[in-house]
Amino acid sequence: MATQEQQIKAVEAEHLLQVYKRIPIVFARGEGSYLFDIDDRPYLDFLSGLGVASLGHANPDLAEAVADQARTLVHTSNLYFHPLQGEVGRRLTTLSGLARAFFCNSGTEAVEGCLKFARRYWHTRGEPRTRFVALERSFHGRTLGSLSTTWEPGYRAPFEPLLDVTFVSPTDPAALATACGPDVAAIIVEPIQGEGGVWPLAPAFTDAVTEACRTSGALLIADEIQCGLGRTGAPFYSATLGLQPDLMSLGKALGAGVPIGAILLSQRVADAISPGDHGTTYGGNLLACRAALVFLEAMEDGGFERVRQAGVTLGRGLDALAQRYPVITDIRGAGLMRGLEMPADTAAQVVEGALARRLLVNRTAGDVVRMLPPLTVSDAEIDKAVGMLAEVLDTLQSGESDV
Ligand SMILES: *Cc1c(COP(=O)(O)O)cnc(C)c1O
Repeated sequence: MATQEQQIKAVEAEHLLQVYKRIPIVFARGEGSYLFDIDDRPYLDFLSGLGVASLGHANPDLAEAVADQARTLVHTSNLYFHPLQGEVGRRLTTLSGLARAFFCNSGTEAVEGCLKFARRYWHTRGEPRTRFVALERSFHGRTLGSLSTTWEPGYRAPFEPLLDVTFVSPTDPAALATACGPDVAAIIVEPIQGEGGVWPLAPAFTDAVTEACRTSGALLIADEIQCGLGRTGAPFYSATLGLQPDLMSLGKALGAGVPIGAILLSQRVADAISPGDHGTTYGGNLLACRAALVFLEAMEDGGFERVRQAGVTLGRGLDALAQRYPVITDIRGAGLMRGLEMPADTAAQVVEGALARRLLVNRTAGDVVRMLPPLTVSDAEIDKAVGMLAEVLDTLQSGESDV
């Protein structure tokens, strides 16, 4: 007799498109910062579903609100008004200082919309700029427009030709100035590159972005899907860097697990857009907006401050690790978005060793161990995770000295 786990894997192997290399665990439930597999073994979740389960798993307030909304009204489409979309928009525009919001269903859709709105802006002005400038190591999503601005050649090559995008190294401010000619519609940046290896933009490069926008007129798109909405303790990391984006893409944390994405726009871009220019069937439905309201209320109600404190605790713990284990060559990130750089084979062993101790972290850009815990993670849980990483690094170090 096949076990339940074997049956789940077999049915996927037979019926699902094989695009994911899954880690062989089946999760059945969650609670706070923990996930439980089908044998009810607990795992400390320092990835939160790639920064999505922002309020932790099975959050009681979220569960209550979503159940209540499901019993009341889930979806009406954007043909009609409902009471929640404007309210989520009000909170997001207040937090960001941008003028208007548009709702969609995922990160890539938010980026896709930003690219369209940037082109629409220039079309409206009778100056049809079409080219975009993006950064090396960037990740902006998998649909055709977003993919065009995503750097990883392996993701792009099978789908070319894509949009006209010039990639610039985020360590080369001069190259950015050269790339930004009068045909550039927008520059798109992640204030902290996530998938690319947790790289905050350097101050010199941030200044170059502002300068390139000023001299070329290009709009600035800040992709805050991973680093925004409190992940670093600030509402948006672009503001921390002193950037003033015209467009912002949001996703991941916003629905605390319920799919929702958003675009925030400056008034001058919003003024260039007319009814009918863009739209979506699901975007900003009642269920998704209700979840986003629970998330935003939790953040406004001490959540940002809590992440700042937790970020200090995590930063201290990781600094101590780097002192003790010279295999760690760099620590990057802010708040609860952190990466430990080390040789790629060591990073792979650390992720595997952590998993064996039932701590979930992942490896990105080959040589970075990434952490994105729920924004509700406790100091005790942070200490526990750092302790487990120390155990893993100890074993690796003693293993090496045995050889
Ligand atoms: C995850 C991510 C995306 C894509 O979001 P999806 O919801 O997977 O489409 C885009 N940009 C950044 C910075 C991301 O981290």
